[in-house]
Amino acid sequence: MDSWIDELDRCVNTVERLKEFIRITPEEEKAITTLDTKWGTTPYFASLMDPDDSACPIRKQIIPSLLEKENHHGISNYLVWIENRATGELRPDSIARQYRDRIAFTVTDACAGYCRHCFRREIVVDRRLRLRLDIEEGLEWIRDHKEIRDVLVTGGDPFIFSDEKIEYIVCKLRDISHIELIRFGTRMPIILPQRITGGLKKVLKGFHRVPIWINIQCNHPKEITEMTAKAVYDLLCCGVNVGNQAVLLKGINDDVQTFRALHQKLLSIRIRPYYLFYCEPAPGIDHFRTPIEKGAELIRDAIRGHTSGLAQPMYVVSTNIGKIPLMPDYYISKKTDKEYELKNHDGQTIIIQNR
Ligand code: SF4
Repeated sequence: MDSWIDELDRCVNTVERLKEFIRITPEEEKAITTLDTKWGTTPYFASLMDPDDSACPIRKQIIPSLLEKENHHGISNYLVWIENRATGELRPDSIARQYRDRIAFTVTDACAGYCRHCFRREIVVDRRLRLRLDIEEGLEWIRDHKEIRDVLVTGGDPFIFSDEKIEYIVCKLRDISHIELIRFGTRMPIILPQRITGGLKKVLKGFHRVPIWINIQCNHPKEITEMTAKAVYDLLCCGVNVGNQAVLLKGINDDVQTFRALHQKLLSIRIRPYYLFYCEPAPGIDHFRTPIEKGAELIRDAIRGHTSGLAQPMYVVSTNIGKIPLMPDYYISKKTDKEYELKNHDGQTIIIQNR
């Protein structure tokens, strides 16, 4: 049996199993036993948890919390709103659209780990929104919409599928003449790096008219191991680009030291930081959310000028009209038609002529 299947078969999703990895707190146990929610992860990811510290960033991302019952700022029916599911355009449930030329193609509601901060928790974690994730229906809609050039295959986690099923989706999308780019959103290199098998590499590798880009989600340097590094290297050797889309999470990565270490470590395993997402107002995740400005402050105080520019993600707020960038704005301190006064990360200024 492939070791990734074995990991999924032995997933950690009961109190008893979790106790094999950590000393569970009464609050954690109460949340697990009383909340009506899907939770769990792979033995590999559970083994990265700190057995004695309930503030461990991996514990907080995976173990349910009683705070999920509180919802002061989350938008009910969040996915319907953010994915424009109640607009005039008729689309299959699997197709989410915010832009003219690209869509998100949701192919599954299953994951290798159920992240407590997931903005899709209504279908993936809480499962109160039931969608018809019919792959054929989605492919047909994409075929019929010639303005779509870029498809993000997402979920859930699409790499939970067998190699054959992933290959089928890739081939069908490549057969559509107006498709120029296939993207996958997956946390597998983080939660189940064993998934990057020889079989999957065969599916992904090679020179094709339509390239594959992968974005993972890594939120804390502790999530990066030698196995992650090898999985990413294997993906890159297939000719696939790998970026990171971190989520800004209170108490997990919202301090300068952790934030810088995360982005430096990502580069050290060849992952280019792409986005930093403001934690979205999905219901039940208020406790993960920081003030909106926090992401821009962290880029200013931890990255810009403090380490390689390659480490800098774009900080964005997701909305139903698209992602809005919110980058630090300290660098123009004065401007006239003739000149700009520019400020660096240390507060030093310089005058540059305008033209
Ligand atoms: S892997 Fe992605 S889709 Fe699955 S629970 Fe985590 S954030 Fe949500």
